[in-house]
Amino acid sequence: MAKKQERPVRRCALCHEIRELEESHIIPKFVFRHLRKTSQGALRSLDNPNKVIQDSEKHYLLCGECEDLFSTYETKFANKIFYPYQKNAVKEFNYDSDIYYFLTSVSWRSLYLDILDFVEHSSDIGIDVDILNCLIEREKNMREYLLKKKSTVEGIENHIFFFEDIKEFFNKPKGIKPHFTFHRGETSYTFFNKSTHTYATITNMMGIILFTLYNKGEGEYWENTELINGNGRLIAENQKIQSVCGNELIDIMKRSKEGVVKTSEIQKEKIYKKIKDNPEYFTKSKAFEALKKDFNI
Ligand SMILES: [Zn+2]
Repeated sequence: MAKKQERPVRRCALCHEIRELEESHIIPKFVFRHLRKTSQGALRSLDNPNKVIQDSEKHYLLCGECEDLFSTYETKFANKIFYPYQKNAVKEFNYDSDIYYFLTSVSWRSLYLDILDFVEHSSDIGIDVDILNCLIEREKNMREYLLKKKSTVEGIENHIFFFEDIKEFFNKPKGIKPHFTFHRGETSYTFFNKSTHTYATITNMMGIILFTLYNKGEGEYWENTELINGNGRLIAENQKIQSVCGNELIDIMKRSKEGVVKTSEIQKEKIYKKIKDNPEYFTKSKAFEALKKDFNI
């Protein structure tokens, strides 16, 4: 029998107490579960498409108490927005401050780990000290809000962009698959643009794309995307973004395409054989549905 891995006793990233840490998902686990449940075959990582992935990215980050705190809000978002959108194509949602809390907790997890990474590789990635200071400041504000020491978070904006079906895509880079990339995937990372001074965390949850802005460049335009810390209504329609954040969407599609190129020949053979042996199985799949939409644009 495999020995159960011992949990490390370290400082919890949220409450800062020295406790036994649990493995925390960066992107909430209901996203990967839903992706797996609606997939015909194994799921593969973008970085290493030859490897089957069993679970999404996890890190020893939070203690049990902080995990439990977050999970209440996760369930609420999953039931109020994620599942209705994925399963029943619901496009209009009433939300409250609990949803704002959830979104902040998702971006905070990503930001926390990315700051550690940025600090470690600061010279390689060329991050300026003022950008780092801004991100560190925001992380602190978010942490205090998540711990309920403060009722608001200074300096951030939460936006949700629904990646709806598209019919046209002007200047589409060759070979990219927008629907397949966003509807059949998940990702989360922090980025910064040194010329526009836009810093944000982006998280794709199968087409529900969360942007948390830590600094908004001049002349940016976001329409029908922002969620306030209170009651509001969110509609997956007539949303517009004019921002360098849009470039990240293109980058995610390009990386997804590279992943396909990296898939080994043996792996490709196996996948093609599976489709050839049982074409009906594939044509009924969610992956095929997304690919069909990509062939049409
Ligand atoms: Zn804790």
